[in-house]
Formats: sequence, C-alpha cells, structure tokens
Amino acid sequence: MSISYEQPRLYIDGQWLLGDGRRVEPVIDPATGHTLAELPHASQADLDHALAAAARAFPTWRATAPLERGSLLRHAANLLRERADAIAIQTTLEQGKPVREAKLELLASADTFDWYAEEGRRTYGRIVPGRHIGHRISVLHEPVGVVAAFAPWNFPAVTPARKIAGALASGCTLILKPSEETPNTALALARALHDAGLPAGVLNIVFGVPSEVSEYLIASPVVAKISLTGSTAVGKLVAQQAARGLKRTTLELGGHAPVIVWADADVERAADLLVAGKYRNAGQICIAPTRFYVHESRYAAFVQAFVQRVNRLQVGNGLEERHNMGPLANPRRVAAMDRLLGDAARHGARLQSGGERIDGPGFFWQPTVLSDISESALLMNEEPFGPLALINPVATLDEAITRANRLPYGLAAYAFTQDSGIRMALSRGMETGMLGINTLNVSMPEAPFGGVKESGLGSECGMEGLQAYCNTKLVSEE
Ligand code: NAD
Repeated sequence: MSISYEQPRLYIDGQWLLGDGRRVEPVIDPATGHTLAELPHASQADLDHALAAAARAFPTWRATAPLERGSLLRHAANLLRERADAIAIQTTLEQGKPVREAKLELLASADTFDWYAEEGRRTYGRIVPGRHIGHRISVLHEPVGVVAAFAPWNFPAVTPARKIAGALASGCTLILKPSEETPNTALALARALHDAGLPAGVLNIVFGVPSEVSEYLIASPVVAKISLTGSTAVGKLVAQQAARGLKRTTLELGGHAPVIVWADADVERAADLLVAGKYRNAGQICIAPTRFYVHESRYAAFVQAFVQRVNRLQVGNGLEERHNMGPLANPRRVAAMDRLLGDAARHGARLQSGGERIDGPGFFWQPTVLSDISESALLMNEEPFGPLALINPVATLDEAITRANRLPYGLAAYAFTQDSGIRMALSRGMETGMLGINTLNVSMPEAPFGGVKESGLGSECGMEGLQAYCNTKLVSEE
C-alpha cells in the first residue's frame, strides 16, 4: 500500500480544479509537522461557480426518483468500502488518528450513505381528514434547496458524509467546505460519488478561509439551508449570519460529556470501555467521555483501574499498527492542553498519569488523567478536546446529576449502572441530546445525533436527519 499523499483539489460543477493562480495553504502531517501538499483556496469566482452549479443542478436532482438517488448513494458506499484501506492512509496522514480508526470511520461513512439511500424513500407525507366531504388536506415534504455545509477536521469522513448523504437523499444539492486541515478524506467521498455517476453540480467541494467562505455562502440568496459541525463559538456566529436571511440551520457543536459511574457498576468493564472511548482520536471527539463522576464507594478502585489501562496505551505515528493513539491534529490543541493543565495544577488537581507534551516532531501529548479537580478549574468548564480524563467522587445521585448538568453543553452523557430506578432517573434528569447507559455507542446512522443547550440545534442521522433537509408543505384541496 502506497503512503503518498494525493494532491487535493476543489470539486466544482463536476470538475477537479487546481492552480490558475489560486491562493494555497499547506496541509500539515500532525505526526511529523511536515507539509504534505498545498491546498488550493476557492476564489470568489469559484464560490460563485459552485453556487450557480448547485442552483442549476437542483431542479433535476429534486426531480430524480428517490430510488435512483438511493442507488447512486449505495454505489458510492460500495466504492468507499473497496477503497477504504487507501483512503484511511490519506486520513491518517492529514489528521493523525491511527489507520485502524480511520478505516472504521470510513466504513461508518459508507454505512451512513447506505442508510440515507434507504431512508430517502421514506420522506412520507400524510393525508389529514378534511373539514367536510370533498375537502382534502395533504402534508408534503419537499427538499429545501441548495445547502451550504461546513465540516471539521476531527471526523473528516463521517461529518461530511452525514451532510452529503442527508442533502442528496432528500433531493437537495450541496456546497461543502470541509476542514482545510483534512481535505483528502472529504474529497475521497466526492470521488466515490463522482465515479458512481453523480450529475455535475449536485455536490461541490470548496476550501478557503473558513470565516470568509461561510459568510459569503450563507449570505447568498441561492443558499436555503446551513449545516455546521464545529465549535459552539463558530456555531453562534453562523447562526447569526443565517438568521439575517431566516435560513434553516442544523448545528452540531461542542460538548463536555459527563460520565456517572454508580456504586453497582462493573468498574473493570466500565474502565475498559471508557479508556478506549476517551483516548480514541486522542480525545478530539465532541462526544468523548470527559467529566467522570464516580460514586465515592468505588472511586479509588475506578481511578486505579482507569490509570492501569491508560498506562498501557501506545502513542505514536498512526501509520504504525502498534500505536493506538496518534498525535493531536494541530498545534492549537497542544497549546490548549498546556493552558488547561497549567490552570488545573494551580487549582490543586491531582495528576494520576501523563500531563506533558511528548518530545520530538509532531503534536503528541501524553494520555492524561487528573483526579480531585475543582469545578472552578478551566478544564471542568471549557471543552478540552484532547486526551484528558477528569475524575471526581460524588456521594449522591442528585449531586451527580446536578454536577453533570451544570455546564451550558448538552451533547452526550454516559452512565454505568444496572439499577433500573437509577437508569430511569438518569433518562429523565440528564440535560443531554444523547445518553449512553453501560455503552458509549450513541452514534449510528439510524438514530438522531445532536445536542441541546449550547451543543447545537437539530439532529443529523435518524429520520430527523432527513427531515432537516425538507420543507413541510400543506395542500388544502376542494
Ligand atoms: P474553531 O472553532 O476555529 O474551528 C472549528 C471548525 O469550524 C473548524 O473545522 C473550522 O474550519 C471551522 N470554522 C471556523 N470558523 C468558521 C466559520 N466562521 N465558518 C465556518 N466554519 C468555521 O476551532 P478549532 O481549533 O479548529 O477546533 C477546536 C474546537 O472546535 C474544539 O474545542 C471543539 O469545541 C470544536 N470542534 C468541535 C467539533 C465537533 O465535532 N462538534 C469538531 C471539531 C472542532
């Protein structure tokens, strides 16, 4: 298997574009700090071209039967599976996660295409009984139109896949701006769709300065809907811009997931799952388990079991099979770890493992465990988005729920307990978009993925994910 990095391009109106005096920016390998390639930025003319192409393609794509749209998505999903090994290497080079994780992400993206291919056949409307005989009330679901979508670098395959598949299955056309730091993974999705026969203009991929591209696309009268996965700060900015044109938004934003480990939990099994979940993608996951509230009777045992497993993690270049944690994706995360851990030390947190940058090239950070952390420490309030586990004891369920709910975030939350009364209390009491009980698996194409409070607006995946790309139309007939 070759490990050369492919030249990234723009994909507009069915063409792969490069050069022509466009501005470029380097794509960096986070494991080495070396430049992999120069990424072209879309000029204003390119953005206009993409908008015009998406607008032109919309009427035909909308009129294409859902069955046909679905079969194209399924064909692309199969191409992704065939190409998974090669694409995973591109992902690891540009993002850092171990190849095994990159491949699983790509296969999950193919599953997302498949699921939307099926669900696109079920944008059912309904007939409502009329007010009198001869009166018919129909409710129809129609594609919203041209979508502008923005995806981040932490899941460079799955986050674009959700937006692409949701838009395409419902009959919308799309301009996607993936992260400039991870262009080739999203381009590989576009390549699979292109090779499966996607008509020109239905999907367009652009890169540039994120704030400039998003402001330009969101302001365009061509764009009817915005979908963003990113930070809460950027989500608020994008929501303000969308509000100027009263455009529909789906926002999947930051999180700071609490984990309640209760007195009856199987501590060893919980530690197995939680260490694997915490350090996957070096902790750069919006639903990563982060604030652990452990019943005081199991606190010492849990900390010990957790730290034992963390000390066995192998950190290094994700291209090497033996490594199960790669580098942080960019130097901004290294600076954030430094700042948050310095502040935690000043707040008296106990360092149980890690805590330092790993010397050498690349952006490596030790898997880190802190315990007994004051709620006023920055990292108990700000999304760490890195390999940090924060473990504290709690005495009562009320205390655990209150502390879990105290932040403005509400994306994912987890609990480990067999007690049905406690499970019921958690299902009712946790302010969260997704709750995993004895599992960390809250992300699958068939179920809605989204947050409450400042973690977002709306859902991706599930039937909700398709509805997000549809308008509701009432037809009242005599
Ligand atoms: P950031 O806020 O600068 O950027 C986050 C993402 O949004 C990036 O992909 C970026 O390209 C994009 N972006 C930035 N400004 C934008 C704009 N005006 N319009 C459209 N897109 C824009 O932060 P970062 O340093 O890249 O990432 C760190 C923070 O981002 C983390 O702390 C985390 O909160 C958040 N994040 C969340 C997710 C998620 O899955 N929800 C993914 C990646 C990053």
